[in-house]
Amino acid sequence: MIPFLPLNRINERFEPELSEAISRVVKSGWYLRGQETEKFESEFAAFCEAKNCVGVANGLDALTLIFAAYKILGKLSDGDRVIVPANTYIASIMAITKNNLTPVFVEPNEDTFNLDAISKDAKAILSVNLYGRQANLPKNDLLLIEDCAQSAGIKPKGDAAAFSFYPSKNLGALGDGGAVVSNNDELCEIIRALGNYGSKKKYINDYLGFNSRLDEIQAAVLRVKLKRLNEDNKKRNEIALRYIAEIKNPNIILPKPSSEHVWHLFVIRCKQRDALQKRLTESGVETMIHYPIPPHLQKPYKHLNCELPITEMLANEVLSLPLHQAMSEEEIERILINPCLA
Ligand SMILES: *Cc1c(COP(=O)(O)O)cnc(C)c1O
Repeated sequence: MIPFLPLNRINERFEPELSEAISRVVKSGWYLRGQETEKFESEFAAFCEAKNCVGVANGLDALTLIFAAYKILGKLSDGDRVIVPANTYIASIMAITKNNLTPVFVEPNEDTFNLDAISKDAKAILSVNLYGRQANLPKNDLLLIEDCAQSAGIKPKGDAAAFSFYPSKNLGALGDGGAVVSNNDELCEIIRALGNYGSKKKYINDYLGFNSRLDEIQAAVLRVKLKRLNEDNKKRNEIALRYIAEIKNPNIILPKPSSEHVWHLFVIRCKQRDALQKRLTESGVETMIHYPIPPHLQKPYKHLNCELPITEMLANEVLSLPLHQAMSEEEIERILINPCLA
């Protein structure tokens, strides 16, 4: 079977540096809010061409803390409307509703899977770079928060961006991790405090905070892997372009390339998606569906009674093929000659 995403093979390529980095932290005796996190934050901010990076515990927290900090700054208030693409991963929506904000589900553009035009009345936009493709939004005066959980490697354009280092993401830790990236110093200072029980100064708590910190081991691991992120994303792009050039099955709609794309996932569309998935599995190609049930049809949001036919159609048609930086030439060729795709 060609595995969808063999994380052991991806991470083996970083040995022995990964083990050395972990061992360095173990020996240091300092496991949270230390040098590794500080260094990773400045390296990742520079990589993103942004002023600040704040490490947090995961991608959902990165998003949640951005909204919470904008509320503390008075830029958002309870009930404010936030535009969000309806076909996103449910974490994007949870970050909005957990802050008592109102999600305005918008249908994506079918060709890019992203938001494009914004016409609805709202205070903020949560743009999602779904599958690794950066959304190309017209600049307006709404707050622009960018969900970059799937697009590590792309320069964020929003007022604040949230990253996830969940192991399967383009820049994956060996556990959970996340970060907020922004040029807004005040916002980042509040987010840093919020993630540490609302405290800026030891034993003084200014806000009703959270515990959300990137730990030293994950930061040390991410520093090793960050050095090769551009190279790894380039490899993903090469494979994606080969798939696009060589997959010829007329029943398949291929994703569109873009210069701002890091191919977190290679997502095709097919009206007979379930049959195609079954045949691919039988012929030794593991695939996945991102995502089979959109957020508005999940229990926490069902009562909103949203009608989103494009999002529902996409959920029934999308299928993700294996695509990652550790794929062998043989695996790529076996996928390309598979009779379901060729
Ligand atoms: C993974 C993901 C998140 C959440 O990140 P975690 O680190 O798993 O909390 C949020 N939004 C999108 C689009 C994601 O893919």
